[in-house]
Amino acid sequence: MKTALIFGASSGIGAATAVKLLESKWQVFGAARSVDKLNAIALKYPHFVPLACDVTDEDQVEATFAAASQDQLLDAVITTAGVYLTDAPLKDTTLEQWENLHITNSRSNFIIARAAERLFWEKAGVFIALSSLGGLNHWVLPGNGAYSSTKHSVTAVVAALKAEWDVAKSPSQAFCVCPGLVETPMVEGRLKDHPNEKGTGITAESAGAAISELATHPERFDSWLYRLGPSGLQPEIGPTSYDI
Ligand code: NDP
Repeated sequence: MKTALIFGASSGIGAATAVKLLESKWQVFGAARSVDKLNAIALKYPHFVPLACDVTDEDQVEATFAAASQDQLLDAVITTAGVYLTDAPLKDTTLEQWENLHITNSRSNFIIARAAERLFWEKAGVFIALSSLGGLNHWVLPGNGAYSSTKHSVTAVVAALKAEWDVAKSPSQAFCVCPGLVETPMVEGRLKDHPNEKGTGITAESAGAAISELATHPERFDSWLYRLGPSGLQPEIGPTSYDI
């Protein structure tokens, strides 16, 4: 049985990815702060193991990796944990908001990616992190500057991880997924204020299906950076060479 560890498994894209993998007979360790929501998934799926974890706490992330890889080696580490801030022009964004976004989205992604890089340095595994269209320069929306800057960090860290594994000839693969609108609890506030955007996104289930496909068949994907929208996963760039 293949095994995945998913950070952010209590809601939205992370929960949908967990369910998709569970339905494909994976064992899934699901980490988040909302243990009640994790327990609800575990009630339905016996191969789901809930793990309480606040990704802003390095010790908790390390303990979560240790718990998930105690009895067997993991096959995939996926992180969807994140928070959003929209309609916040830079002039109105407080330093506290900026820092909180970076602590949850960028700092935790670094902690998780570093642990995954160590875990899969020699043993084959897949690492998948959720960036955003806003994690690509040409897609930053007005009012999304602070959030998008955290996602640029996610994209850069996955780029480094991929390059480091490639240069070290690690058998592992890293993917950075950059979705457009996905209709999850995260964007409820934005959709209330921008009702014209309702129905233009994709569902959490279709995002989860795409991410589980990356985890299950990494050999079918030759880029590391993908946009995710109504046409599914689209490579943002082609294969990269590090022979400088
Ligand atoms: P949700 O709000 O539905 O889910 C966010 C998840 O992150 C929850 O499981 C939440 O768990 C977890 N999380 C947040 N803070 C922490 C924390 N401190 N410690 C542990 N877990 C945490 O959002 P989505 O599913 O929509 O988002 C998933 C990812 O996709 C995010 O990284 C987001 O930025 C990205 N994304 C989403 C888009 C969208 O349109 N929805 C578009 C582009 C990118 P809990 O609160 O239980 O801890």
